Amino acid sequence: MTFPPLREELQGLEPYGAPQLDVPVQLNVNENPHAPSATVVAEIARAVAEAATTLNRYPDREFTDLRVALATYLSRDAPQGIAPEQVWAANGSNEVMLQLLQAFGGPGRVALSFAPTYSMYPEYARDTSTAWVQGRRETDFSLDLDAARTLVLEHRPSVVLLPSPNNPTGTALPPEAVSVLCEAAGDGLVVVDEAYGEFRRTGTPSALELLPRYRNLVVTRTMSKAFALAGARLGYLAAAPEITDAIRVVRLPYHLSAITQAVALAALRHAPELLGKVDELRAERDRTVDWLRGQGLRVADSDANFALFGTFADRHAVWQGMVDRGVLIREVGPEGWLRVSIGTADEMAQFQNALSEVMSTQVMGTEEGAR
Ligand code: PMP
Repeated sequence: MTFPPLREELQGLEPYGAPQLDVPVQLNVNENPHAPSATVVAEIARAVAEAATTLNRYPDREFTDLRVALATYLSRDAPQGIAPEQVWAANGSNEVMLQLLQAFGGPGRVALSFAPTYSMYPEYARDTSTAWVQGRRETDFSLDLDAARTLVLEHRPSVVLLPSPNNPTGTALPPEAVSVLCEAAGDGLVVVDEAYGEFRRTGTPSALELLPRYRNLVVTRTMSKAFALAGARLGYLAAAPEITDAIRVVRLPYHLSAITQAVALAALRHAPELLGKVDELRAERDRTVDWLRGQGLRVADSDANFALFGTFADRHAVWQGMVDRGVLIREVGPEGWLRVSIGTADEMAQFQNALSEVMSTQVMGTEEGAR
């Protein structure tokens, strides 16, 4: 055994994480560019001060008030309504998904998704000793439903991870895709990760609508994106109560601190204001996609607050050229592509200026069909 006695499958691996560089325009981790207003800051500070008066005690393990508030919020996208017993929350949807794999994955079980997709998924599988199976998306990043169904029937995963909209491509899933996979999965869970759900284009329904129909469907959300609360770390899900009950077996005691619960509750009381910039960001996204296409680039259709564009023979050179001009984007996704998060109108203008410059000063050979 070597020291420290790291598990063999973890040896030599780099920790996940986008570069955190100190540049003026940060468009690399799909954050909301709008900081909370002075009113919301004051309300959060008041809620934290109140929670601080009882910090000698452990918090409410069942985060009862927060579950009620999250259920009320989710009910907007679910005509049937969402009950508090259907809601679970943790420190970011990353932790929610790790808990799902701790409870429903594990040795001898399979988790399945379709690439290109969120690169943390295989890490949740690895960390819970769950086998990982990855199908492929089509060249437009949609799912071939027949092939997806066949893959699920072949591998019988206990968890299927389906982001909608997908990261890093921005692709939303049509409701038929969720139905086909819920039916194919049998008793396995189908987790529709709607981290970017609030940014979806008009006419794209949320998978929350399908919850009454499929007992194996789980829909995850986060306050990190549309809610502009990435620093607070609050992710959540809606599913059948048997599923939320089962997750309690693997959660650490008091995993949601009293401070986290107070901050999330205060933010939910100000939901309309915090979500007020979503429409503006969706419009900015559509403008960005049009502008990139106008430059002759390929851009994946996006229902999220980012756009995947390319393709570049040397994407790293483009990324570096952007950093040199003070704009941080993300080198992620299939070879040749880059992803930009949608910032303020001013930030997007700086992004456009920098990219125009980089594209005119470099030999920008494109790599057609790179995947
Ligand atoms: N799912 C997807 C598809 C994501 O892109 C992210 C964050 N980038 C997450 C989940 C996790 O977000 P958080 O833990 O902040 O809720």
